[in-house]
Amino acid sequence: MNKKAPNLYNHLPSVDQLLKQLTTEIKEYGHEQVVSIIRSELVLVRELIRSGAFESLSPPDLESIVSATQQKLESNNQSSLTPVFNLTGTVLHTNLGRALLPKQAIQSLLVAAASPSNLEFDLNTGQRGERDSHFEELICELTGAEAATAVNNNAAAVLLCLNSLALGKQVPVSRGELVEIGGSFRIPEVMERAGTQMIEIGTTNRTHLKDYKKAITDETAAFMKVHTSNYHIEGFTNEVSTQEITLLAQQHNLPFIYDMGSGSLVDFSQLGLPAEATVAEVIAEGVDIVTFSGDKLLGGPQCGIIAGKREWVEKIRQNPLKRALRIDKLTLAALSEVLKLYRNPEKLMDSLPTLQSLTRSQANINKQAKRLLALIKPVIPKLYDVSIIETTSQIGSGALPVERISSTAFAINSINQSDNEIRSLALALRKLPKPVIGRIQNGKIILDLRCLETDSSVEAEFIEQLSLLQESA
Ligand SMILES: *Cc1c(COP(=O)(O)O)cnc(C)c1O
Repeated sequence: MNKKAPNLYNHLPSVDQLLKQLTTEIKEYGHEQVVSIIRSELVLVRELIRSGAFESLSPPDLESIVSATQQKLESNNQSSLTPVFNLTGTVLHTNLGRALLPKQAIQSLLVAAASPSNLEFDLNTGQRGERDSHFEELICELTGAEAATAVNNNAAAVLLCLNSLALGKQVPVSRGELVEIGGSFRIPEVMERAGTQMIEIGTTNRTHLKDYKKAITDETAAFMKVHTSNYHIEGFTNEVSTQEITLLAQQHNLPFIYDMGSGSLVDFSQLGLPAEATVAEVIAEGVDIVTFSGDKLLGGPQCGIIAGKREWVEKIRQNPLKRALRIDKLTLAALSEVLKLYRNPEKLMDSLPTLQSLTRSQANINKQAKRLLALIKPVIPKLYDVSIIETTSQIGSGALPVERISSTAFAINSINQSDNEIRSLALALRKLPKPVIGRIQNGKIILDLRCLETDSSVEAEFIEQLSLLQESA
């Protein structure tokens, strides 16, 4: 084969010959990028020649190398972040980007991205202004807090509060609240990195007021409570109420920090959803500082909100770390718009996509499922069979972990009862141009329709994606 090889190398087109065929691509992607891909294609072909791959075949000609280069350029320039259909049944899915923004917030975010703004500029005085000024009053209005600020996410909010109020000091926290949220956020580790000494009190299932009292020393700087967002213990349990901790903190002149996690601003029970204490209720009880996420139940952009007593918020604002963790202008623009929607709670279910998805009735989802079933049956690959089932969705992001909401789904079965076939269909669904993400349960693919918009163009797009399956599966 080595005898034949040199001839094949001679047949390869030159870089210049290839470049002449790729003028449109050069305009779009730039000379440098095109040359670099041509070179790597040629290296690949030479390696194949060396390995004898073309012994009985003709080596790639000019056209096929041009076409390979075009494909490479296209795939290299596709964005890695791509929209998907979230049919997992988890409305606030952390791995799928949590809350979707309302249109007002998207509009405001685009304006902030495209134009200079008074982000930190006081238009009255012409002097430097405050970033927080764009949303602080709104948060105070909606929660009853005296002051508020916001940072990159709730993890940052917790870190910043502890570091600002208890650096080098002790913070008692119940053993039942030492939770891990989504893998990398663990209360003990965050407390350590914040430079505070965690004082574990009580037991996993029961913590009493006397445990908090006993923990107080000259080194105590704050009390901390953590919403056990993603787990629930039942049976012989006891948790000290926020009122009791508040009272104790006040008696000792110590701040009480409550990491609420999801932090809802409206009474969920009025929307027909499981009840959850609102931020305003907790603030009214006298908690000094609450922290919560912007992109969980609030339905806004990723950020962490810190609200509470002015004295402590000021201290938090002055921490140099605040600058490192600050909220960016796009988030700020979206957050302000989302908060404004809360001024009209009656309309929230229509105006906020998260609440819209969460409060969507099973009857409505069922109607959609029936409408789409007839369209899906003919396009689903022959090895599978699809039917409508009742299922339950969850809120997600650790909000109300044990509560489920009734929903309707498509259940896709393998006719041969093959787990392999189910796995390969799930993969094919994920590989669609607009990936369809469901969940596998009891050997079936479950596509929960709660988060599929009823807009006819969205439904058509969904069916169109499924119809592309035929070719691969
Ligand atoms: C979700 C959550 C966090 C982390 O919030 P992010 O916004 O994801 O950073 C922290 N604490 C609790 C209790 C949570 O539920």
